[in-house]
Amino acid sequence: DLPPLYIITPTYRRAEQIAELTRLAHTLMLVPNVYWLVIEDASKRTPFVTQLLEDAGIRYEHLLAPMPDEYKNKKSMPKGVSNRNKGLSWIRSHATEGVLYFADDDNTYDLDIFCQMRFTKRVSMWPVGLITKLGVSSPVVKNGVFSGFYDGWIAGRKFPVDMAGFAVSVRFLLQRPNASMPFRAGYEEDGFLRSLHPFEPNEIELLASNCSKILVWHTQTKKNQPSQPLDVVKYGSTNIA
Ligand code: UDP
Ligand code: MN
Repeated sequence: DLPPLYIITPTYRRAEQIAELTRLAHTLMLVPNVYWLVIEDASKRTPFVTQLLEDAGIRYEHLLAPMPDEYKNKKSMPKGVSNRNKGLSWIRSHATEGVLYFADDDNTYDLDIFCQMRFTKRVSMWPVGLITKLGVSSPVVKNGVFSGFYDGWIAGRKFPVDMAGFAVSVRFLLQRPNASMPFRAGYEEDGFLRSLHPFEPNEIELLASNCSKILVWHTQTKKNQPSQPLDVVKYGSTNIA
């Protein structure tokens, strides 16, 4: 049997939410042995999200993890951090093997990346497209060997990578009981990957043909200001609070 994939998806209530989650659900419906951990930045489950999860027929957990008030409406918010930490603690108490991946609700995923990440022993990485002015963020590989990072915002980070560009073995995580994601905008990935110590960049498992292919894109949905609620047609009422 294939090792399970734990897909941790932070999400929050807004006009685009059901559209984003529909697209991601339809991707994950094509992935075998998946647990979808959908974690809302909210204090109550959004019924439309529950219904979408039921309709998708994927194994899922619908969890809640509101952003602490102190970080809300700041110029740079640590978006999705309480959600992802909730997902990590769920994995710590329910999972024993497999691989975890942080999949934001708005990105675009080629199915091949799920095949490739499934056998991660420690931490695997690959390029992410459509991010920063450079258009790509990736480990740099020379002669098959890790030789650095290419990213539009290095900012003193030891691991200057995007959330969508790495996966972690569940066993490796469980051996690191203190690993978590910091509430520090811009440093979420770096802080989490540093918290997996001992782990060094030269130990990264390089996927996507030695990081030469883009299988994940950091797409972002234009904010809409609909005059009509967008999910009326699908679920019969509005998803806007
Ligand atoms: N998110 C959240 N609460 C927020 C803002 C974002 O839970 O207040 C989630 C969002 O649904 C996404 C992730 O956190 O899965 C990252 O947010 P976003 O895609 O807006 O960030 P960016 O594309 O700017 O990195
Ligand atoms: Mn995003």
